[in-house]
Amino acid sequence: MTDFGGALKDYARVKNFQLAVIGVPFDEKSSFLRGAAGGPEAIRRVSTGKCYNPDTELGVDLAEETVLVDLGDVDTSGDVLKTFAAIEEKVREVVMNGAVPIILGGDHSITYPAVKAVASIFRELDLLHLDAHPDMYEDLYGDRLSHACPMARILEEDLVKNMVQVGIRATTPEMEELARKHRVKTITAREFPEKLELAFENPLYISLDLDVFDPAFAPGVSHHEPGGLTSRQVIDLIQRLRAKIVAFDIVELNPSRDVSGITASLAFKLVKEIAGKVVRP
Ligand code: MN
Ligand code: MN
Repeated sequence: MTDFGGALKDYARVKNFQLAVIGVPFDEKSSFLRGAAGGPEAIRRVSTGKCYNPDTELGVDLAEETVLVDLGDVDTSGDVLKTFAAIEEKVREVVMNGAVPIILGGDHSITYPAVKAVASIFRELDLLHLDAHPDMYEDLYGDRLSHACPMARILEEDLVKNMVQVGIRATTPEMEELARKHRVKTITAREFPEKLELAFENPLYISLDLDVFDPAFAPGVSHHEPGGLTSRQVIDLIQRLRAKIVAFDIVELNPSRDVSGITASLAFKLVKEIAGKVVRP
């Protein structure tokens, strides 16, 4: 079952859709462990309407109040540049249609082509990045497209107006310096306040690396970084957001490290809650 809590409509039968799932089964840019390529499949599998309903916590019925489709997976069988071009094309197509892409990774490298696509349509774009890591290495082991580098590429190409990073707890002085230089607003895990209310003026892209959560809440990631956020803290943050969300990704689910599908269920829950905020900002 891959029905997203019963909310999914058959792409072949609908004329218009507002939300579109795009899977990116790609983990060639993961620096430590492979496995994130299994992410999209694991999220779809766990999302069955036999276990979940299509209603969000804030009362949005994703089956009734919007049209959600699944466009399947991007072709990742070629080399990395081909894959990135395919991501860009698919994401762009969805945004051009006036819909919101829900991009399921895959390792975090896929965010660079995805943001590029969205930024080509929304010239004034803000980015909310939730992660244990800033992902702003100039390169990692000589690779500028590593999953440790997407935010460096996004900043150097000036793809976003404002970048806000939340949950950071494994950085370096070099990346802190880069964040200052580009006026990135950072809310570390240490500084995470009781109630975090974020407001964005420009259309917003959300990029959520599942290692932003404490490994106790999300064991199914390649990099376990203790001291992270709880499921509740992140869901609350999303529910309090004041922004027009135009695209989002959920990345770094590594099913081979997951326990009883806990992390996949959390990823699906986030899809629902963020989608709910798209429907009712
Ligand atoms: Mn991370
Ligand atoms: Mn990341």
